[in-house]
Amino acid sequence: MPVGSYRASLLANDPRLPYGTRMTLRTLDALVKHYPDLPREAILKTDLLRLGVAFTPAALCRCASAKPKSYFIFSFDRKSQKELSPEERHCAPEEIALIGGPWDCQRTIVSVRLNPDSPYRIDAVDEHPLTLQCDGTPLCTIELPTFPAYYARPLANGKPVTDIAPTLEWGYLIYLTTFRLCQYWGREEECQYCDINENYRQQRAEGRSYTGVKTPEDVCEALAIINELDVERQSRTYTVTGGSITTQLQGLSEGAFYARYAEAIESRFPGRWIGKAVVQALSRDEARRLRTAGYQIYHPNFEVWDPVLFDRICPGKARHVGREEWIRRIMDAAEFFRPTHVIPNFVAGVEMAKPHGFTTIDQALQSTGAGLDWFMARGILPRFTVWCVEPNTTLARTNPEPPPLAYFAGLLQRYCETFHRYGLPLPPGYGPTGRGRAVFSVSAFMDVLPESGA
Ligand code: SF4
Repeated sequence: MPVGSYRASLLANDPRLPYGTRMTLRTLDALVKHYPDLPREAILKTDLLRLGVAFTPAALCRCASAKPKSYFIFSFDRKSQKELSPEERHCAPEEIALIGGPWDCQRTIVSVRLNPDSPYRIDAVDEHPLTLQCDGTPLCTIELPTFPAYYARPLANGKPVTDIAPTLEWGYLIYLTTFRLCQYWGREEECQYCDINENYRQQRAEGRSYTGVKTPEDVCEALAIINELDVERQSRTYTVTGGSITTQLQGLSEGAFYARYAEAIESRFPGRWIGKAVVQALSRDEARRLRTAGYQIYHPNFEVWDPVLFDRICPGKARHVGREEWIRRIMDAAEFFRPTHVIPNFVAGVEMAKPHGFTTIDQALQSTGAGLDWFMARGILPRFTVWCVEPNTTLARTNPEPPPLAYFAGLLQRYCETFHRYGLPLPPGYGPTGRGRAVFSVSAFMDVLPESGA
């Protein structure tokens, strides 16, 4: 079947239909056959991130002793907290590993995005390993992340490490959301797919320890606990991030605010971890300040490539910085971070969001593909995460369901092709690459790159 009509048939299988009529497994199988060069686990992982996953009560019972979901920045759930059961809210694991089973999965790490209505369900029967099913068909077994020793020791002020310094990517990355709010506020300013402010409110309402602004002292205390108890030295990197600061926070500009964390960490634990900053595209001086503070990798996230969509989907960024200036700042930062160490992220899928997004997969692939090409041609390796349609966001109102899996599979293929065309090095600070080895859990871009070490 020609690719065009194949894609048309997948689109005809309308992803916005109720789950039971969506033929998830058939679509998954068809895409695995259509992209024989992509690891099948990468396509499955992408669908789990796109649709979320449900847990049976028996499975949640087993999960209760595993490493819990920390809500490290956004909700990354397909339901709000009040739509989830207490067990889902508190027992769901941070990540799962897909292993073996009928699909013969090589070990694949996936971030958990809760959705009790998902066609993907994790179940526990007797003493058997947990299984992942799709539309009732078993696919693979599930391994849970171990509850780390450092999660059992709180800070002196009683705050848990899960609040101050949770770890992701099977323990590889320490995620430091030091400012849990964003100064882009309300529908006219917030990125239309983002629930950072709403998530902060719902987590506080839930009674979770959820610190709005973390102090460098608390961060260093939590890192000291991790450093002592992470005896296998699984943690290799840290990310410092949070909402945008458009004016000042605690009397500091955005660059100065986020720089102080690396300054504190690097003076206490010099070189122990690779430091990454995920902040806006800052002016040359502000970005250089981050580099001087000790960050090695800089993520001025671009979110969506198309100029019209950038303005509509990221109105605050468009107004305060602007797309062209954002690009200029990325290129400026590449001078002193090095191009390989500037890694802008795209939120893959928002380019197909109603009402303004592309209406065909080919248009969307062409647009985001052009963005990947533009950066990679200049030695910068962007990455992407899979858009999770979180309910408390502007785009959720017009997009009750995410874009089709065929789009994301096509993007993985495009990403690989562009990466190979420009012969770029593998991204630093993301751990191993390749099928069965990658640990990056919120998209499969690391799973589809050539195999590497740590
Ligand atoms: S800049 Fe946009 S994506 Fe980032 S926290 Fe603010 S609203 Fe969310």
